[in-house]
Amino acid sequence: MSQLRELHQQLISKERSAVEITQDYLERIDQREPQVRSFLRVTPEIALEQARAVDAKIAAGDAIGPLAGIPIAIKDNMCTKGVPTTCASRILENFVPPYESTVTQKLFDAGAVMVGKTNLDEFAMGSSTENSAFQVTANPWDLERVPGGSSGGSAAAVAAAECPISIGSDTGGSIRQPAAFCGVVGLKPTYGLVSRYGLVAFASSLDQVGPFGATVEDAALLLEAIAGYDPKDSTSLNVAIPSYAKSLRPDLKPKRQLKIGVIKETFGAGLDSVVETAVEKALETLQELGAEIQVISCPRFRYGLPTYYIIAPSEASANLARYDGVKFGARAEDADNLIDMYGKTRAQGFGPEVKRRIAIGTYALSAGYYDAYYLRAQQVRTLIKEDFEKAFARVDVLISPTAPTTAFKAGEKTDDPVAMYLSDLMTIPVNLAGLPALSVPCGYDEAGMPIGMQIVGNVLQEQRILEVAYAYEQATQWHQRVPAIARS
Ligand code: GLN
Repeated sequence: MSQLRELHQQLISKERSAVEITQDYLERIDQREPQVRSFLRVTPEIALEQARAVDAKIAAGDAIGPLAGIPIAIKDNMCTKGVPTTCASRILENFVPPYESTVTQKLFDAGAVMVGKTNLDEFAMGSSTENSAFQVTANPWDLERVPGGSSGGSAAAVAAAECPISIGSDTGGSIRQPAAFCGVVGLKPTYGLVSRYGLVAFASSLDQVGPFGATVEDAALLLEAIAGYDPKDSTSLNVAIPSYAKSLRPDLKPKRQLKIGVIKETFGAGLDSVVETAVEKALETLQELGAEIQVISCPRFRYGLPTYYIIAPSEASANLARYDGVKFGARAEDADNLIDMYGKTRAQGFGPEVKRRIAIGTYALSAGYYDAYYLRAQQVRTLIKEDFEKAFARVDVLISPTAPTTAFKAGEKTDDPVAMYLSDLMTIPVNLAGLPALSVPCGYDEAGMPIGMQIVGNVLQEQRILEVAYAYEQATQWHQRVPAIARS
């Protein structure tokens, strides 16, 4: 059952106050953090103050929305006014934003209670959260494994029941892959649906903020709260936001048969057989629920990874140019002159993966190489988009595994960046095309690690992918399992 609905019920029936709920989650955080390490910072004073405000509303007889009094964790690349926002980077270690991101402002306006800021790969670059400059987050299902990344802290926090919902960001898979690794639901919205104002930029044409929840309905409720037009983000879409949660039903055939396409190219070499079997089983379940399944080929999908690793680092190298030690962020103290200060600040402030991306991006954008790399990559991006367009002319949603494997052991891929990049093989094309997609739990491997299924929709088809995921979730029991640590 939806955790948000359950908590909301307790609040309006006065069975528990928002302060009591918040205290309960803060205690769990205290108890579980030494092992899971999802949070870079816990914010109990803010949480309790926000909870008290909700209790005052309830006491005054005011109506409250579904997010009021609900504890939430925020990825530490979302600017929170007065609360340090580090991007898990030394260069922003002491940065306190003077403004609030649109997403956190919307959440606070809805009465959500911020319990803390979560760990990530430095500047959201990575797939395991091991690139954080400050700590390694554990996977709640097996503390020796990674939670995925880059939103690993947000996914682990929900999986460990340190909070019912959280916020992540997804540039190439950073919500969906950790959701799959941690056995929770994570959704990357259509590019432009959720404001990027106050999200620290990684690759601006790909970044999107999105929800994590323990169930599809929770993710839908959270998406509803954060989506919407924002004049402060020039890429924001001015569209009406439907009530995503209201349309969820346990079956798949309201008016006509739903057509599902299985992306052929995601079932090739490199895919773990246990993941393959789980997704195939899930497709059978969807068929039983009334969907028609066809195999769809997206031949240009395989260029997704190389295309992304030109475009994302290029945009990152430009976005990260602002960390020069002058206006904000860390500054090297031992410099002889300005140029030396720039160099030393960046050498000391950025970790190895961030430097690698800056080097790749600067090279790809440099005079003489721009046409060969960046421009070419943008052309291939259009071809990948075309594959999706052709597919969506035939089917309503597309399905693939979310990631080729389940969560790997910490340290297993840290010496091999390309092996790490391969984690995002299936999620990256979706960002390149700007489409919405989610990951929903669809099984467990022999070691008991969760497996995720990716459901991709056409532009602004969030409602449809949530409906498919919800019907699937209601027909299965995967989401009812929780890791031992969440029961302690
Ligand atoms: N893992 C991918 C990368 O390292 C995607 C990260 C993300 O979506 N923020 O770039």
